[in-house]
Amino acid sequence: MYPDDGSWTSALTHLECGRCAERYDADLPQNVCRCGSPLLVRYDLDRVRSSVRPRDIASRGADLWRYRELLPVRDPVNVVTLGEGWTPIVPLAAYGRRIGVPGLLAKDEGMLPTGSFKARGAAVGVSRARELGVRRLTLPTNGNAGAAWATYAARAGTECLVVMPEDAPQVTRKECLAVGARVYLVDGLIGDAGRIAGQAVRDGWFSAATLREPYRIEGKKTMGLEIAEQFGWRVPDVVVYPTGGGVGLIGIRKALDELAALGWITGRLPRFVAVQSSGCAPIVRAFESGAETAQPWPADQAHTVAFGINVASALGDFLILSALRDSNGTAIAVDDRDILEEQLACATSDGVLMCPEGAATLAAVRRLRADGWLSGDEEVLVLNTGSAVKYADTLGVGRPPRLERDADLPPEASAAEATGTAHGHRTQP
Ligand SMILES: *Cc1c(COP(=O)(O)O)cnc(C)c1O
Ligand SMILES: [Zn+2]
Repeated sequence: MYPDDGSWTSALTHLECGRCAERYDADLPQNVCRCGSPLLVRYDLDRVRSSVRPRDIASRGADLWRYRELLPVRDPVNVVTLGEGWTPIVPLAAYGRRIGVPGLLAKDEGMLPTGSFKARGAAVGVSRARELGVRRLTLPTNGNAGAAWATYAARAGTECLVVMPEDAPQVTRKECLAVGARVYLVDGLIGDAGRIAGQAVRDGWFSAATLREPYRIEGKKTMGLEIAEQFGWRVPDVVVYPTGGGVGLIGIRKALDELAALGWITGRLPRFVAVQSSGCAPIVRAFESGAETAQPWPADQAHTVAFGINVASALGDFLILSALRDSNGTAIAVDDRDILEEQLACATSDGVLMCPEGAATLAAVRRLRADGWLSGDEEVLVLNTGSAVKYADTLGVGRPPRLERDADLPPEASAAEATGTAHGHRTQP
């Protein structure tokens, strides 16, 4: 329940297919269009324009519900919140200078509830499900989405059934269990988990799978609303996004389109960059071949330490690709080795320890600068989508030396030039 200050009005009107534009009633639970494509949420933007101004929003709470007019929840009594949103934008000045992009910034989503930006989609998705009377949710997940939806479902008193690959990060599995979700492991990838969750759907569970319900995008869209507001109602030159299902990228683009229609921002979209791992890069391959949709990445070959972007086939592929092309953006695949190296390089330079997905954007920026796609004087915003703490196992650091209880510190330890990483892994500049 959100404290209602009397100003709560959602301008939600209807749902519209992202491909064929068929309309659907937003006040019934809906999944995908008859044509199989994701449904997008539409608002009465004229009404928003005449009822609220950017400066009204400035005085509201520091969470994503400050954008209530552009969110689908009609009654604040249905809001399920843990204080998500309004994450900081942090300059990465030292690391940025090191790679030739001094205007590098990160929006740091690692401090959100459940340790990833999946909290945004889950907060809005679970709230709207509650508003529509949905009592049982199911989703396949690579980990973070399951943890977020299970957590918000627990808060809402909604049942949640999660199916995840056996090698999804252990901590996310435990999070789901700890908040009381039903959890099943599958020996396979998220696509296999999806087929099993589909059986629960036939038994009456509501599918909250990526882009199979319309409201997760609306939660992730708030990243784009925040970016515009935090930049002073304008946008950076480039937005670099670690892309799995692409919900966040589609959401940020949707947010900026809505703000442009409102007249709250003007000018060009930022150039969007979709970053994938070279171990699973269906969007990059489609972008390079000029295709409008992506061929599924062979499931037995899909592998990366950046688990959140290990998505072989994305339902919203055509929306991701059009965001890249409409904005003069690009798509790029990076190696896991580079991801892990840049993760530490940024941490030691600026004290920002990203998750591997976030670090993939750093490896991409470094490459795009070296290739000349980035000129070096642009404002480049990367999304760090989660907390590194959830991926402690893959951090490329060594084991510190172990001392006996009564041992003296070795002389080199207390020497003036010694650094915290002297005994661990140190990446080469
Ligand atoms: C899910 C996830 C992603 C990919 O998000 P999409 O919006 O579905 O592309 C990136 N990073 C992390 C940490 C994730 O959990
Ligand atoms: Zn359709």
